Amino acid sequence: QALTALIKKWVPPSLHHNQPQKKKTYSMEAVRAAITNRELINYYQPKVVVATGEVAGVETLVRWQHSDDGLVTPDQFIAVAEAHDLINDLTCLVLTNALAQARVWHQAGLMFRVAVNVSMDNLTSLDFQDLVVNLVTQAGVPPQKVVLEVTESQLMGDTRIPLEILTRLRLKRFRLSIDDFGTGHSSLAQLRDIPFDELKIDQSFVHRAWADETLRAMYDASLALARQLNMEVVAEGVQDQDDWKLVRETGCNLAQGYFISGPLLADDFLDWMKDWQKRLRDGLITKP
Ligand code: C2E
Ligand code: MG
Ligand code: MG
Ligand code: MG
Repeated sequence: QALTALIKKWVPPSLHHNQPQKKKTYSMEAVRAAITNRELINYYQPKVVVATGEVAGVETLVRWQHSDDGLVTPDQFIAVAEAHDLINDLTCLVLTNALAQARVWHQAGLMFRVAVNVSMDNLTSLDFQDLVVNLVTQAGVPPQKVVLEVTESQLMGDTRIPLEILTRLRLKRFRLSIDDFGTGHSSLAQLRDIPFDELKIDQSFVHRAWADETLRAMYDASLALARQLNMEVVAEGVQDQDDWKLVRETGCNLAQGYFISGPLLADDFLDWMKDWQKRLRDGLITKP
């Protein structure tokens, strides 16, 4: 932040490329109030089985329905919550909402898994484990249907306590997922030490990997590694027909991305499913 301030001071405004006009940083008080007043809402993005098109589950992605600024994306407030000890409250709210929605889907016979993003700052005390277990027990959702996504680049430094918390949750049958795989500095060590069930190949190694030898080598290597370690593999950032063709031809298990669907409100999910099933019937997943 000091660096950003320096750059702002010395670099002419026309060169402030990294400061998009519409992005705003919110104060701790504002983020706290958003959590207390339940202004955070859950969106859901489908994760589909590549071979069949079936919906395996959803990832929940939080948004802030702000009274003045409209729909605010997580990059504008998660870091604030992390920095001011609000992240456990935020994660609990998001998880509570997601579990209530999972119940609705499960009661309708749609046995989706629900994935929730967990911050490294959630994994600093064993209390977090109890919070998660209590919420899931209260909601009556089987832990096997709850996926905890942890971003790989956050898994750095001293990971003894996070490792302990994740391992305990794994023993309680929660599913663990390593998110944005390939973007961190310690990928292999984390895979060695933590019993992940799922590996999500970062979108930067998926989208257009069919067109670029370097990306393709990284995509292939991540896929092979996950298979060798008996993990399910999710391709993130499947954005067009060619990306979809790549994940199909390489036998990736699951896919997620704008080609399938962006994040949706729960109310729009069943309409999207109808539309997706129609796209499948119309030949989207027939062999090339
Ligand atoms: P993530 O967990 O890696 O989520 C994927 C992000 O990529 C989402 O952005 C999603 O909307 C976007 N995305 C999905 N499909 C595509 C695609 O085909 N192409 C491209 N370019 N992007 C795609 P979003 O919702 O803005 O979330 C950004 C990040 O914020 C997430 O990355 C996650 O790390 C974090 N986040 C989101 N919700 C939560 C939350 O409830 N708690 C915590 N701690 N972090 C969250
Ligand atoms: Mg994620
Ligand atoms: Mg990701
Ligand atoms: Mg990410």
